[in-house]
Amino acid sequence: MKVIFFTLLLFFTLTEVRAQTVMDFEKYDPPSTLVVPERKITRSKFPFIDVHSHQNNMPTQNLNELTEPMDKLNMAVMVNLSGEGGEKLKQSITNIKANAPKRFIVFTNINFSGIGENGWANIAVKKLEEDVKNGASGLKIFKNLGFSVKDINGNRVQIDDLRLDAIWSKCGELGIPVLIHTADPKSFWDSLDEKNERWLELVTRPGRKRSATDPAPFEQLIGEQHRMFKKHPETTFIAAHFGWYANNLALLGLLLDSMHNVVIEFGAVIGELGRQPVSAKKFFTKYQDRILFGKDNWAPEEYVTYFRVLETEDEYFPYHKRYHAFWKMYGIGLPDSILKKVYYKNALRIIPNIDKSVFPD
Ligand SMILES: [Zn+2]
Repeated sequence: MKVIFFTLLLFFTLTEVRAQTVMDFEKYDPPSTLVVPERKITRSKFPFIDVHSHQNNMPTQNLNELTEPMDKLNMAVMVNLSGEGGEKLKQSITNIKANAPKRFIVFTNINFSGIGENGWANIAVKKLEEDVKNGASGLKIFKNLGFSVKDINGNRVQIDDLRLDAIWSKCGELGIPVLIHTADPKSFWDSLDEKNERWLELVTRPGRKRSATDPAPFEQLIGEQHRMFKKHPETTFIAAHFGWYANNLALLGLLLDSMHNVVIEFGAVIGELGRQPVSAKKFFTKYQDRILFGKDNWAPEEYVTYFRVLETEDEYFPYHKRYHAFWKMYGIGLPDSILKKVYYKNALRIIPNIDKSVFPD
């Protein structure tokens, strides 16, 4: 009887101890005790152009609801990549002209259904020309190209598919850039276990998990994109999300060296830059003419992380979304000359129709 009693007591004591020493990864997030200078920047030092935003209701949207927070952030221009094209694009441009001229730029999109039908590319190119005539300033390609776009025979359309060549060439001819998002972070292809840096994101958003056959290996998709870039040197491409190589800036530098028509934007990957301030500063210094400001998800309160990483030399501060970065951030402390290029000069060079008058020299 006594033995059973003491065994049970020991069991409950051990369970108690375990409860106190083991906790969820998500729960463990202690406030830092580090005392260092802090500069929480809610407004950028220079006016900036966000080249990667999505607004789906621009034809009817009350644009003041956007310009108000934009003014607070010092965002002079927002590039809405979800223009769609056709009537919707026209209506968006009408709304902008009437209510907030100079504050918004719209990119058009391609409807990929019907690839393989006779004359598909001709029709797509005509629509593109029409959209540009109606005020589109660029073309945005979503990640569905590579992931889910299929031709009329049900085959996956590769990013470097010959049937799309006419579109990329036409963008070069029209002088508009192509902002393209291909694939996703490499970790989405890796095993879902304790070694995966995006474990929390994949557990929170299981639909994002990929594999070598769903639909193809990461390297293959990225390879298709790079072959397409190289095949169209007269067209300027903006590789979204640092081309998913923000965690390997040495490799990204080599890629930029080999493709002079490619620039990059750091939407949703500022957490990668903020964990390598020394490497990132070297990279921004060397490639200062090739980097654009992009954010992607429109959440005004999250820009503070971007400004802080770019402008300050703050140490060990949190990122705003734990599933992107459970680690802490460090400021890169870019000089004004580089900040101006990243905030607006590079975008002004690459994207047409932006009013230059509100930006300093
Ligand atoms: Zn996006």
